[in-house]
Amino acid sequence: FEPWKDPDEKPLIQFRNVTKKFGEFTAIDDITLDIFRREFFALLGPSGCGKTTLMRMLAGFEAPTKGSILLDGQDIAPVPPNRRAVNMMFQSYALFPHLSVWDNIAFGLKRSDMARDKIGARVEEMLRLTRLEQFARRKPHQISGGQRQRVALARSLAKAPKLLLLDEPLGALDKKLRQDTQFELMDIQEKTGTTFVIVTHDQEEAMTVASRVAVMDHGRMVQVDTPDRIYETPNSVYVADFIGDVNLVEGTAEPAGDGRLSIAWAEGQPAIMATAPDAISAGARVHFAIRPEKIAISTVKPADRANMIEGAVHDIAYLGNISTYKVEVAGGRMVKAQVANDRRISRRDISWDDKVWLSFTDTAGVVLLN
Ligand code: ATP
Repeated sequence: FEPWKDPDEKPLIQFRNVTKKFGEFTAIDDITLDIFRREFFALLGPSGCGKTTLMRMLAGFEAPTKGSILLDGQDIAPVPPNRRAVNMMFQSYALFPHLSVWDNIAFGLKRSDMARDKIGARVEEMLRLTRLEQFARRKPHQISGGQRQRVALARSLAKAPKLLLLDEPLGALDKKLRQDTQFELMDIQEKTGTTFVIVTHDQEEAMTVASRVAVMDHGRMVQVDTPDRIYETPNSVYVADFIGDVNLVEGTAEPAGDGRLSIAWAEGQPAIMATAPDAISAGARVHFAIRPEKIAISTVKPADRANMIEGAVHDIAYLGNISTYKVEVAGGRMVKAQVANDRRISRRDISWDDKVWLSFTDTAGVVLLN
């Protein structure tokens, strides 16, 4: 089930070979991408990869150097920012301090050609949507940070844009409030059916709120996919490393003859057995990527598993629900294993310097060529 892909519907936004240069510098490098109606789409990547530039082109503050951007099938190049069915919500919220919550939300509507009697109803609707009814008469300095964030959201949605751009919308909130607000944001997005594009530095946030995530690097889209596929089947070392925690092992691949791949990675160590795309040729240099929670750890040798590696516990991080073990294996390499803390493994079972076995199945990781 892929809710953003309605076969009868054209994409809301189409980037067609879009390049953006600032002088000689290429900030966006030949991006082709469709974003569908009702999608919650996240742009993720390190600082300077081009996320904001992409948003600013959608908003109309920048024009592509090459290529075109279509909204609802129409090239938006000739449409000025204030005439686009696009709104942008900034991290600073940019609320008017001297206006009440009600007037802040009404501001854009009053400047539009909406009939006076409709404005009141629309503001009330936005207040209800963002649960701000009882704060309508207050000024921005008389409400909390989370409430201010909701006013900004209500104001951005008041004119019912087809597309809302959110630039680090939760950046000013502390962690707990931020997590609660993520669910609220998803809820409001679903209720209004507006397409949201969010820029965030926080990969957990992107994974939480978005239906699809684009991982960017140097102005290019490296992988565009659902959060679970980005996490489970990254298409490159870059994506595997950028999203979540990962163990990356470089080695030489040999087809094992049974459809599996054997990856020689350290002298005197058994090769890693992995299932892999059949395109990998004998002797190819590959990276094997495996998430820490896919590796089991025990002080006794486990019953036969496809992969078993001996090591010694170097570090333990107890995080309440989970514990992370840093285990030193052959050649001084560190491998991270993560286990849920339930009654089966108490943290007293494994301690520093213990000799342990790390084990994982042949489908637990991914083999990457680049
Ligand atoms: P951050 O997460 O730090 O906001 P970003 O991914 O949003 O980064 P952009 O702001 O899109 O990155 O910038 C992409 C690249 O383009 C950066 O190297 C930046 O220095 C450059 N850039 C952006 N705007 C301009 C400009 N007006 N003139 C020259 N270079 C620019």
